[in-house]
Amino acid sequence: MGKKYFTLSFDDGLEQDKKVLELMKKYGLRGTFNLNSGMFGLQGEVKGIGTFSFQDCEAGIRHHWPFSYVPHNRIPEDEIRDVYAQMEIATHGYRHEPLGKVNDSMMQRSVNQDKEILERLTGKQILGHAYAHGSTSPAVEQHLKAQGYLYARAVLPSGGFEYPENPLNFRPSSSVIMGNTMKLVKKFLEAEADDRDLLLYLWGHSYEMDYGKGAASWDGLERLFAAVAGREDIIYCTNSEAFLRI
Ligand SMILES: [Zn+2]
Repeated sequence: MGKKYFTLSFDDGLEQDKKVLELMKKYGLRGTFNLNSGMFGLQGEVKGIGTFSFQDCEAGIRHHWPFSYVPHNRIPEDEIRDVYAQMEIATHGYRHEPLGKVNDSMMQRSVNQDKEILERLTGKQILGHAYAHGSTSPAVEQHLKAQGYLYARAVLPSGGFEYPENPLNFRPSSSVIMGNTMKLVKKFLEAEADDRDLLLYLWGHSYEMDYGKGAASWDGLERLFAAVAGREDIIYCTNSEAFLRI
């Protein structure tokens, strides 16, 4: 009999992560936060909506989103250890480098520097990576493997629950802000893990909830968390626990 795993993944280490963490704790969910250690504490704002969110928007909403501005402030270094104490931290590129597009020495520096700083901050081995801009290559995967990485996440959704064949370049099931993710959650709740394990892997950026539109809202995120939480047949875990099948 297979097992059902659920995990969350949030990128960039933003102040809004604190609100996501509160909700995760409220619903007993676990996950991984992908940080850029060369950008701690940077302040800014972001216009419009994150990467792939237009696909599932209703008509009309997309006309408003590009004109929304929300805060994009990164958590400072001295708070990292405490803020993420209960969850896993993974690398996301020292300064958010697209690893598949930079030269080998920059790619290696981006990974190694980030890993070293995050391991020093947390006192734990870093086992995972999320590809900034979804950018990777066979050379990047090979480097991560040599550095002891267990898994690395891309960006485009798979829309399914299959465990990936290549854990060093896999697609998440979906994003928390896509309109059809709730349907996917329902499908996952009904799915039976017969002879193999199933994995529902959702990712996002916490700032996207500040847009307050449909699934990209704090209410939407809480509805999603409430829908998936509290099942005895689901293992709620961090990304590395999902890949270690703990
Ligand atoms: Zn990012």
